[in-house]
Amino acid sequence: MSSSSLCDSHHIWSLKRLTGLNISAYFAPQDNNKLLSNLQTLFVYAKYSRLLSPSQASMSRALSQPFNGHCACKTITYTLLAPPLITHCCHCTYCQRESGSAFGLNSVVEIYNFRITSSAKPTVTGVSSLSSPSGDKHLIAHCPKCLTVLYAHYGANRSLMFVKVGSLDDESREMVRPDVHIFTSTKMEWVNLGTEEERGVKVFEEYYPREEVWSQESLKRRERLLEWLEEKKRGEEDVGPKED
Ligand SMILES: [Zn+2]
Ligand SMILES: [Zn+2]
Repeated sequence: MSSSSLCDSHHIWSLKRLTGLNISAYFAPQDNNKLLSNLQTLFVYAKYSRLLSPSQASMSRALSQPFNGHCACKTITYTLLAPPLITHCCHCTYCQRESGSAFGLNSVVEIYNFRITSSAKPTVTGVSSLSSPSGDKHLIAHCPKCLTVLYAHYGANRSLMFVKVGSLDDESREMVRPDVHIFTSTKMEWVNLGTEEERGVKVFEEYYPREEVWSQESLKRRERLLEWLEEKKRGEEDVGPKED
């Protein structure tokens, strides 16, 4: 892509229309390299802009930046290499108890889009008393020093990380909004979701049908995750069972 085609007024108009961003802010004539990289980022975003969930759309300015997080004592730091697939605000009684609050707020990402960036690793505990109906233990990852919970795997699915939104850095946390409110049949009475519904966020008394709620982009990413899992499984079968 050449810079002259990028600066074509039709492209600029399309970008503005697609992204809703005030892209004139990106036109700094004294810095052509920066202009080019900003516009390329915008083009990538524009490709997906109509396919994003409300919270992904609100992150439009940050799609090119990683999302970082840390525990309360900063012993453990982490980064998300992609925006969340979906962010759940869960009002079930389990999330209320686990969080010690009115609801749980979890951003879901594929395991390969999550990295621990500190040299110290979190402690991962299987909690059998919180096992899913299938009997698979929930895995809860917390800082060994301050015990902040950073993420969890719920039930048998270890390929999706449920990252605790409250543990994101301030800047990253500000960009994340719930995409869906679930299990609102047990919602605390004083939690009013009126403004969330105005924002176009879906509210479900129990769980929800994925195709109705996930953005097209997230559904595509899920397909890639399933393919990756299939490939991984085939690789393990080729090697044969490992001896401990
Ligand atoms: Zn800590
Ligand atoms: Zn819950």
